[in-house]
Amino acid sequence: MKRNRPLVLWKEEALLRRTMHRTELASSVAMRQSGHRGEQELDYHLSFLPSGFKAFQDLRLLGEGGVFQMDTLIVSPYFAIIIEVKNWSGKLVYNQERGQWIRFDVSGKEERFPNPLGQVQRQKHHLLKWLRPHLPQPLPIETLVTLSNPNCIMDTNSPHLPNVLHTENIISKIKELNSCHRKQILTEAQLHTISQHLHQNRLTDRRNPLSTFHIGKEDILPGVFCPLCQKLHMKWNRRRFRCPFCGHSSANAYLYALYDYFLLFGENVTCKEAQKFLKLDNRHTTYKLLQQTGFRKEGTNKGTKYYQPDNLVDRLEEQYRRQRKRG
Ligand SMILES: [Zn+2]
Repeated sequence: MKRNRPLVLWKEEALLRRTMHRTELASSVAMRQSGHRGEQELDYHLSFLPSGFKAFQDLRLLGEGGVFQMDTLIVSPYFAIIIEVKNWSGKLVYNQERGQWIRFDVSGKEERFPNPLGQVQRQKHHLLKWLRPHLPQPLPIETLVTLSNPNCIMDTNSPHLPNVLHTENIISKIKELNSCHRKQILTEAQLHTISQHLHQNRLTDRRNPLSTFHIGKEDILPGVFCPLCQKLHMKWNRRRFRCPFCGHSSANAYLYALYDYFLLFGENVTCKEAQKFLKLDNRHTTYKLLQQTGFRKEGTNKGTKYYQPDNLVDRLEEQYRRQRKRG
C-alpha cells in the first residue's frame, strides 16, 4: 500500500523552484511535506490492519455540495472509519466550548487550528450521502484524528477525546471499534463492489497553485535544471544539456523541465511552447527532443500537441527516490 506524494505538492514544489514569490508558497510546501510524512507514518501502522479491511488513501469524491477529500478511509463489512492525520508538534490545548485547538510550539508561540474533529464529521456527513445509493442499508461510520508526531502532547487539562490518538495506537483503536460493530452490513461481494465504486469515482486533484498564490504565467522561470547542482539554465550543446556552473552534462535533463511544464501549465505542450520553456535556440532541436520523449501526440505540423505521460506522478516519484538516495 504505497501512498504517492499528493499532486498538489508536486505542483507547489515545481512552482517554488521556478518563481521568486516564495514566503507563503514555501510554508505551504513545508506544511504539505510534513503532512505527507504523517500520512506515511499512518500507512506504516495500517500495514498491520487485521484482514477483512480495505483501506483507501487520499480519496476525493464528488458529493452534493462539491468535492470532499479524506486522508484515509477504511471499510469493512461491518463499519467504516475516516482517519484524518495531523503531523502537529508541540503542546495541544483543546477548548471544548469553542471547538478550538491551540498549539504551543517549543518557544511557546501560539497557533490556532480549525477543529479536525469538525472536519472529519463533515466528511462523514458527505460520505454517508455518497454511499446511500450503493448500500443495502447504512454503514456505520467512525471518525478518528491521529497525531503522527510522537512528540506532540495533549495538555492534561484538555478534555479527554476518545477520537483523538497518537498514530502508533491506531491498530488497537481499530480493533476496539471492530469489537463494537458486530452487525454485518455488507457481504464480501458487496464490499468488493463498493471498493470498485470508490476507485472508479475518485477524482484527480485539479487545484492550480498559480491561481491559489496569484502568480502569473510570466513570473515562471523557464529553463532546464541541472540534476547535479540544481541550478537553472543548462545549455544545449553538442547533443547534451550542459551545466555552466558545475560542468555536469545530461541527455535527458529536459524531461524534468517538461514535467514541470505539465504540472504548472496543463496537460500538453506544443513545440513552440517547449522551445521557449527549454530555452532552445531552434525549432528543429526542440522537435527532435520532443520526439525522443515518446509522449503521445495529437494534431499536425505546428499545431501538434504533446501530452503528459499517464504515469507522470510515478515518474516523478522515481526521480525523487533516486535523488534522495544520492543525498
Ligand atoms: Zn550543475
